[in-house]
Amino acid sequence: MFWPILTVLLVLGGIVLQAWWFGRLREVRAESKREIRNLLDAQEQTALELQTQQEALFDSMAEGLLLLDENRRVRIANRSFSQLFEITTDIRSRTLLEALRLHEVIEILDVLDTHKQVLGRELKLSHPNELLLQVNGSAIFDAAGRRRGTVLVFHNLTRVKQLERTRQEFVANVSHELRTPLSLIKGYVETLLEGAKDNPEISTKFLQTIDRNAERLRLLIEDLLTISELESGRVKLNQQPLQLRVLTDKVLSDFRSPAEAKNITFIDEVPDLTISADAARFEQVLCNLTDNAIKYGRNGGKVTLRARLAAAEQVEISISDDGPGIPREALERIFERFYRVDKASSREQGGNGLGMSIVKHIVQGHGGRVWAKSELGNGATFFFTLPLGHPVDQQIPVASNAE
Ligand code: ADP
Repeated sequence: MFWPILTVLLVLGGIVLQAWWFGRLREVRAESKREIRNLLDAQEQTALELQTQQEALFDSMAEGLLLLDENRRVRIANRSFSQLFEITTDIRSRTLLEALRLHEVIEILDVLDTHKQVLGRELKLSHPNELLLQVNGSAIFDAAGRRRGTVLVFHNLTRVKQLERTRQEFVANVSHELRTPLSLIKGYVETLLEGAKDNPEISTKFLQTIDRNAERLRLLIEDLLTISELESGRVKLNQQPLQLRVLTDKVLSDFRSPAEAKNITFIDEVPDLTISADAARFEQVLCNLTDNAIKYGRNGGKVTLRARLAAAEQVEISISDDGPGIPREALERIFERFYRVDKASSREQGGNGLGMSIVKHIVQGHGGRVWAKSELGNGATFFFTLPLGHPVDQQIPVASNAE
């Protein structure tokens, strides 16, 4: 009896032990699965964080960055790259040719296939915009030396080159403007020294020419200093309430004699208004515009000065002449440094092409705008706005068509 009972007990014990063992095994399996999932989740999280950090890093770059795989499919294109080429869709996984129809860039990739080093090229593109780019490319290899892809970095040189061109043009213009009066002065001095000084009539004439050209040089240097001061942004405007009529009366009276020399009549239609301006700078604006209106105005013509209230607490001041006017295509350009419609006629009048640029800087420094309207053959009108000095009498008309 003992043995059968023991056998049954042993079998039962075995079954219980097996059940416990299988249960434990399941538990251990479930536990390790959980641990593996946690591990994978953590890895995924880390990978995601790394990817976010990488994207943030690439997107913060000023240069365009493009990472391609071995089949020239886009893996990474950062924000600057998309902005540079005006790409608005996600181009990842697309081939470079699909994403960017630029054969110049494809050519760089072709070169990189054979030359395994870093390659630098300047690219001039006309589409989608006029761009001058410096492209640096490098092939990527794995530890076994297999080609894994390409990285391309695009530096936008367009603005730098534009600034460089502007600087060169400025230096060339300044040199030219300085050279002309200087050569004249030198030429006349030499002629005087060679004997002309002994003839009082000739020497007086020559000395007058020398004086005129020296004055032209002085004005040019003064204008250049003013421009450089205004462009540096260091100029502090002493803006205060000013009686507009007091200033316009003064400028018109200062220009009475050159106006009379050309038989030009001033028409003064400036009402009593108070502007907020720097008196000396405002006078410079008005002088430059009045000087031009007389210089380019018709002999025996009229120069009219007007002012009226404009929207947004501004005063609009205008000065018109009835001279030959300005061609439509030049209306905006005349505010550029050294731009003149007719260089010869401007020089003949003693101009240097800086007056309108000074006007623009001063007006903009006051928070105003300046523009010109003209019809060829029918004179020109220059408008500018300045802030109002204080609330005004409503009887003064408010300009409805202030541009
Ligand atoms: P400038 O010293 O040559 O007068 P500005 O900067 O004062 O230079 O003016 C730039 C150019 O704008 C002038 O050379 C001239 O061609 C044109 N301009 C300015 N004012 C007038 C005007 N009232 N009538 C016709 N052309 C003008």
